[in-house]
Amino acid sequence: MNKLKNNFNAIRIIIVGSGIIGKSNAFELSNYGFDIKIIDQDEKQNSSNAALGILMGKIYQKRKGRSWMLRQKSSELWPKWINILQRYNPKLIFEKPLFKLTSDLEKFKKLTTFVNNYPNDELEIVEANSYILSDINKTFKGNKFQGIISHQDGRIDPRILLETLNKTLKTKNIKTINDQVIEIQKKLQKWNVKLKSGEVLTSEIVILCNSIDSLKLINAEIQKIKLKPVLGQAVEICHEDKNINFLSLPKLLNINDKNLITINKEKIIIGSTDEYNFKPDEFYLNGLFEFLEQKPNWLDKKNISRKWFGIRSRPEGEPSPLLKSLDQGLILCSGFYKNGILLAPACSDWVSKEIKKHI
Ligand SMILES: Cc1cc2nc3c(=O)[nH]c(=O)nc-3n(C[C@H](O)[C@H](O)[C@H](O)COP(=O)(O)OP(=O)(O)OC[C@H]3O[C@@H](n4cnc5c(N)ncnc54)[C@H](O)[C@@H]3O)c2cc1C
Repeated sequence: MNKLKNNFNAIRIIIVGSGIIGKSNAFELSNYGFDIKIIDQDEKQNSSNAALGILMGKIYQKRKGRSWMLRQKSSELWPKWINILQRYNPKLIFEKPLFKLTSDLEKFKKLTTFVNNYPNDELEIVEANSYILSDINKTFKGNKFQGIISHQDGRIDPRILLETLNKTLKTKNIKTINDQVIEIQKKLQKWNVKLKSGEVLTSEIVILCNSIDSLKLINAEIQKIKLKPVLGQAVEICHEDKNINFLSLPKLLNINDKNLITINKEKIIIGSTDEYNFKPDEFYLNGLFEFLEQKPNWLDKKNISRKWFGIRSRPEGEPSPLLKSLDQGLILCSGFYKNGILLAPACSDWVSKEIKKHI
């Protein structure tokens, strides 16, 4: 394969899975002239479509280890990616800032120490008596919050992102084949990728970005890879109370570890749960309504106007995500039970560097 090193367009790459991770890998690799195809049988029903898109880079308090390094890399890459992707869809934006609030005094003290330790990270302390909280206190009557504002964290709308990546990949002639990969087999230094339709595609590189189902395409026992399904639920609340206007709130809030996104005067999204299951459980859904000391009237299950869930995969016995070379030309990029949107650029960067070691 060495002869091909300077001739990347002779190298065929098949990406299995067209969620945010599969599409991001295709976007990153499109810079190098590879011949790329994505395969997915049902990309509208994946966890990427269910995600809220909150990006918590700087607000992450553990400032060492692989997880922090991936966050740092993604925080550096996201503005560059947005710059390029906006040429294909100006609607794609990185909304900021993110408010992280708590009613727990001990947690607030920890947040304060954290902010003071990182004075250059555009983190701002919000004390209980701050004017910034007056509208929040009105909407969440009876609760006493304090917290921080992270001016560099925020949200990318996942659906707009997926749509933008689709447009971008189309202009770069990267095709998505609507089919399911049922088997991958190595033959003479190449990979035969068998589809449910019966077609067999051949490639030099296969990247598995198909979350929990990547286990079905590899010998997980020999590779010692374990993934568990983690279901996440989210709800949209719609109220009819004339005295409540969600637009008076910051757009992006994290209160007592629950994410909230204001949509308009009457609507707000709350998510998400962590359930080790394939089916949504009412017990966990209740958790989206029970995270405050005093529950405002509008925070009631009868006000649910929409609810949805997605299934992600969580590695067992090792940290998320799984970034591994499993064989010559076979790469695993999976196990994003959280933060798939946040970490997509950093992980795609890792994969593209790893591929260059394979060819
Ligand atoms: C309710 C909820 C809220 C979330 N909020 C956030 C958030 O705020 N911020 C954040 O960063 N992350 C969030 N996440 C997590 C985020 O959604 C995931 O980390 C991310 O979407 C994982 O992307 P993925 O591409 O790995 O998986 P997926 O989006 O699940 O994509 C995998 C794809 O592989 C395809 N596939 C599977 N098997 C095959 C096969 N054999 N052949 C072909 N195709 C196959 C599937 O059809 C699917 O389209 C949230 C998740 C949920 C559920």
